[in-house]
Amino acid sequence: LHITWLGQGGYLFELASKRLAVDPYLSDSLAAKGVGRLFPAPVTPEELRADFIICTHDHADHFDPDTVLPAKAAHPETEVIGPSSVASHGKELGLSVRTLASDEADLQLGPFTIRAVQAHHSDPDAVGLLISAGGYQVYLTGDTTYTDELATIAANHGSVDLLLICINGKLGNMSAVEAAKVAADLRPKLAIPMHYGMFASNTVEPERFLEPARQAECRVGVLEVGVATSIESLMDEHRSK
Ligand SMILES: [Zn+2]
Repeated sequence: LHITWLGQGGYLFELASKRLAVDPYLSDSLAAKGVGRLFPAPVTPEELRADFIICTHDHADHFDPDTVLPAKAAHPETEVIGPSSVASHGKELGLSVRTLASDEADLQLGPFTIRAVQAHHSDPDAVGLLISAGGYQVYLTGDTTYTDELATIAANHGSVDLLLICINGKLGNMSAVEAAKVAADLRPKLAIPMHYGMFASNTVEPERFLEPARQAECRVGVLEVGVATSIESLMDEHRSK
């Protein structure tokens, strides 16, 4: 199982030549609202060639029509999946979206087993994701405020190898310190912060998460945008530290 950070809350997972993208924001569509991106997209929407795109909620940094529509046009096999807010926005755009909601049965997308779990965000349909693939379980929080249930909900579905957690502390998301508390409670094998560095008006230094998480004896790491890494080697690298 390989993972590539696309920036913000976006990732590409690759396994057995299948590609699952979550929350890809690969355009600069928010620049029109005065919120320009701080680094170029690591791939273009046309280069994404995902078999599956999951958008966790209907905000432009997670469901970006300027990313998803050209990605789908360049690769018509792409299946788009999201909660009902994403599905109804997709419908307005002529895009069919397979719906998922928290606590439904697992969804099998090629080699990826997906379970949507609750997130608490300004889009009430927002979800987090538990992704099982290649013998690993990943918990991607999506955008969510802090509740002490986050760690419990994920743990109820088995042990988490990799936690990908939002840390920006603004616009409906938990703070870096709260995220460290979730990591400390959940005890994943490795915790990686996300949702920072994309927009000058909505970012935070990852160290604000890493430091308290390390103090709680949680293993932490950071990903570099655009670099594909095998989860196995990520785990090995951080086990030896
Ligand atoms: Zn967001």
